Amino acid sequence: MFIINYPQAAYLHIPFCRRRCYYCDFAISVVGDNATGETSQSIARYVDAICQEIQQGVKFDAPLQTVFFGGGTPSLLSVGQLERILAVLDACLGIAPQAEISMEVDPGTFTLPQIQGYTQAGVNRFSLGVQSFDDEILQACGRSHRRKDIFQAVDLLRQVGVQNFSLDLISGLPHQTLTQWQNTLQEAIAIAPRHISSYDLVLEPVTAFGKQYQPGEKPLPNDEDTAEMYRLAQQELTRAGFEHYEISNYAQPGFQCRHNRVYWRNEPYYGLGMGAASYFNGQRFGRSRTRREYYDWIEKGCPIISPVSDDTEILLETLMLGLRLATGINLDRMAANFGENTVTQIKSILKSERDRGLVHWDRHSLRLSDPEGFLWSNTILAKLFDQLTST
Ligand code: SF4
Repeated sequence: MFIINYPQAAYLHIPFCRRRCYYCDFAISVVGDNATGETSQSIARYVDAICQEIQQGVKFDAPLQTVFFGGGTPSLLSVGQLERILAVLDACLGIAPQAEISMEVDPGTFTLPQIQGYTQAGVNRFSLGVQSFDDEILQACGRSHRRKDIFQAVDLLRQVGVQNFSLDLISGLPHQTLTQWQNTLQEAIAIAPRHISSYDLVLEPVTAFGKQYQPGEKPLPNDEDTAEMYRLAQQELTRAGFEHYEISNYAQPGFQCRHNRVYWRNEPYYGLGMGAASYFNGQRFGRSRTRREYYDWIEKGCPIISPVSDDTEILLETLMLGLRLATGINLDRMAANFGENTVTQIKSILKSERDRGLVHWDRHSLRLSDPEGFLWSNTILAKLFDQLTST
């Protein structure tokens, strides 16, 4: 197989947020609006732990090409804490000179000196958690920022000369209308970021929304409106010059997120920190979602105990992830890794979807059409998985 086995990407989870948004089921700790002594001690303890994990964890001899600080709210880290983590990463794993170093930041959680410090430390891409430009919707989602905070945040990024930033948006929220969604898209476009992520709300049972609402029932938009929101994003953003390069992601030419492309190509990566998952040597390993267990695991020397994925699991993951990309799946690579017969079988399973214009292929790639194939991706994948595992 020519699967790459050594990671050159690292995700670092910073699990602190001022409050929990009503749709979020991520592994986080809520620390409130003010950094009290207790909160800053908790963050400092966590920074010690993640540095220890980097120092004693698995290492491969290939410098990192991408680093991604996600959360949580990584902008709750001080500049000194971020510098320290990057220094430990560089010393232990190496960071390539042209590496993409991304950081998720939330409006209202950072100052001008912080952004200056982060960029001087090496961060060269920011992802701003906007979600909506509508104050009522932001409030109804339990977000701690408001519309004015978004513009202030963008202003701070621009004052420091940051051009490479992304805006995160969510569609399909309770009470959200098509008109409100269109306004949010237009406001995002007017800011002229280099990248926009547009996610459809996923109702997770453990969240406040999951307990309060039923999928497809009011006040959530119905399936038709949700699909229309997806089409609207595709139309508005591509018309504004963004490439729709992944099912939920849009970029100006040259500004695709290099780090996330590693996931979609099913390539290996380090996952570091509480709740993070790593993937290398065919092993996916998720860390505990509580800080206490995560700290205990570090005390035990960070053992990685997980079964190695078999070829079928790797094939299904490669399909699930690769079909998210507009460029789709590289069939030459698929044939080299899984055999020509597998490629022939996949094409045969998807023949009727090709006839309906949902899937396209040529000699070298197989991809879903945009937007209709992407909208039907779950059904198409379910059919593929079903038939590939029953033969
Ligand atoms: S800010 Fe992000 S990570 Fe934190 S609770 Fe809200 S959605 Fe979850």
